[in-house]
Amino acid sequence: MNAARLTDAETKMQFLYALRSKGVTEARVLNAMEVIDRGPFITGLFAERAYEDMPLPIACGQTISQPSVVGLMTQALEVSPRDKVLEIGTGSGYQAAILSKLARRVYTIDRHRRLVREARTIFEKLDLGNITAITADGSHGLSEQAPFDRIIVTAAAEDPPGPLLAQLKEGGIMVLPVGQSDAVQHLIRVRKTADGPQYDELRAVRFVPLLEGLGKDT
Ligand code: SAH
Repeated sequence: MNAARLTDAETKMQFLYALRSKGVTEARVLNAMEVIDRGPFITGLFAERAYEDMPLPIACGQTISQPSVVGLMTQALEVSPRDKVLEIGTGSGYQAAILSKLARRVYTIDRHRRLVREARTIFEKLDLGNITAITADGSHGLSEQAPFDRIIVTAAAEDPPGPLLAQLKEGGIMVLPVGQSDAVQHLIRVRKTADGPQYDELRAVRFVPLLEGLGKDT
């Protein structure tokens, strides 16, 4: 037996400590990230690294984001319990699961049918009944459920997609990475006010690109 191996409780403490030290300080967000175990969202070779603060590969050539980035984006979104939230980029479903603990309703869209199917299975297992996962090109948003209180995009576009901004409520907040996929991207927060959108730049990030159309596995 490896004496240096941490117990589950120690691993969890270290995970939460890493989040706090990187600026995830809001109790509600930390609590949701304590409740939602990242383990089930990662399968195969990388499963044992689920509690490290790093992005990891998932199916369809995509990645599950770094936990501290998930935390900072969630915090920046200022979600309240009555909110209806739209996420573009379901991926593993981890971000959507955390949002489901903070919001009333979560709609999450991915262009890969397989990722949506696998995420749905996890949501059912965890009894997260307030998430609807949909296969579609999310850059058009989800007009039948609009407007949204909050929108989060977890793939990078060169500019904030117009339909998403249009589907955001006045007073609403959208958080998204913008920039070219192989260059430096910036995490942006958009507040939609009566006088138009107000932007603030949060930090440099690196996300997979927001692509058009459906993924090839469909
Ligand atoms: N939020 C995810 C990580 C997302 S990775 C998590 O918690 O694991 C980015 C995801 O965006 C990928 O799964 C990719 O398929 C998806 N994506 C890229 N372009 C898209 C588009 N136009 N519409 C919907 N999903 C898109």
